[in-house]
Amino acid sequence: MHALIVEDEAKAATFLFKGLTENGWTVDIASDGRAALAFLREISYEIVLLDVLLPGCDGWSVIRQMRAAGVTTPVIFLTARDSLGERIRGLDSGADDYLVKPFAFSELMARIHAILRRGREVSPTTFRIADLELDLLRHKVSRQNQAIDLTPKEFALLALLARTPNEVVGRKVIAKEVWNMDTSADSNLVDVAIRRLRLKLDHPFPTPLIHSVYGMGYVLGERIG
Ligand code: CA
Repeated sequence: MHALIVEDEAKAATFLFKGLTENGWTVDIASDGRAALAFLREISYEIVLLDVLLPGCDGWSVIRQMRAAGVTTPVIFLTARDSLGERIRGLDSGADDYLVKPFAFSELMARIHAILRRGREVSPTTFRIADLELDLLRHKVSRQNQAIDLTPKEFALLALLARTPNEVVGRKVIAKEVWNMDTSADSNLVDVAIRRLRLKLDHPFPTPLIHSVYGMGYVLGERIG
């Protein structure tokens, strides 16, 4: 799951970044509207957290431009109480929800989950591959009904592979999506993480689900070929 935070105050951005990454999200931060639009052109996010008062082009302008460009990613507006006008109350701006600062992180997560649940038909939040079950919202993984404990990064890695079962996901894509890193071809970051994930996900069970495709990347599925 990939989120974009659009926030010019470093302290607020750090608060959101920390909370989301601890929950297994991959996060980009844009500190103004122009940077946000550049990110939105490149990357497809599950959620955008958009501060209303930004230097240069403000939150209203960002959402207008992204919707005009056909980007349908859900947006949660983050606003100070004194800038909470009629417009935001009616959510007629194209935002999916809004939160008044200051807010508890748990409140934000609840809103994000509610929005993702609404969009479940378009983008599933639970996956079943052979005896593996993965619930993105509850952050739960099991095989043969036995719960498997994963770190947030391991969970993000598994969720990425689960979105396209039986298809190869390249190392570079994995590094970018899970760690937000541009890796060189010889980096073993992804391979090390896959090895750890296999120890928990595949080793205790008779059928391995994670397969390597030499020189390309990794596949999640019952068997390949
Ligand atoms: Ca601001």
